[in-house]
Amino acid sequence: MQYGGSWYFRGNVKKGKLLGNDDAKKMIVTLESTYKDAKYYLNFSTPIDLLAAAILSAQTKDEVVNSITPELFKRFKTAKDYANSNPDELIGYVKRVSFAGNKAKNIIAAFKIIESKYNGKVPDKKDQLVELPGVGEKTANTVLINAYGIVEGIPVDTWVIKLSYRLGLSMNTDPEKIEKDLMGKVDRKYWHNFAYVLKTHGKKICDTIPECSRCPVSNVCPRNGVARSR
Ligand code: SF4
Repeated sequence: MQYGGSWYFRGNVKKGKLLGNDDAKKMIVTLESTYKDAKYYLNFSTPIDLLAAAILSAQTKDEVVNSITPELFKRFKTAKDYANSNPDELIGYVKRVSFAGNKAKNIIAAFKIIESKYNGKVPDKKDQLVELPGVGEKTANTVLINAYGIVEGIPVDTWVIKLSYRLGLSMNTDPEKIEKDLMGKVDRKYWHNFAYVLKTHGKKICDTIPECSRCPVSNVCPRNGVARSR
């Protein structure tokens, strides 16, 4: 998916203004120490809960997903529960998320595969996860990291796309290329939470109107002093 036309790329970083390795390292270490408590933002108890919540979260606020999942998880506990359901029933639980109909169909289809092919267990291999309906690289990384502690990459969501570009960590607009750029710059010990660190920084300080005067990485950020990013 390309995000080149999105508002956060327009004029954010001059072409070629990629941070050098030393500055990138300083920035990453500072962000990690500032937001060391940053963690995944959706509530779940089991890999099945997590997969359903992660599929529902695309283009939907975390708060909305977290507000509907308590009732959803009470009704649907196993892969079989989802596989034996139908879109009309599931939509009744998830109608507050965007694209509820498509997501409900994807969740049911994904759990049908999980029930029949993986004995009801959410797979712990990326190539198996990305074959499930509604699951891309980001969701696969998210499930591997947060359900199984398997860290093979960095989930790239909208916040990661936006801030990687703005902070000069990647000039790419394609999520897979951004992930590769980040994996080359971010120490592997930070991969598991780097997406959540960036998101926390974005929500607290570097949102649509960045608050550069109180930013912990203003000394290295190529956009320091920009009052407004569109
Ligand atoms: S200096 Fe400004 S633009 Fe750069 S990361 Fe901080 S708040 Fe965002």
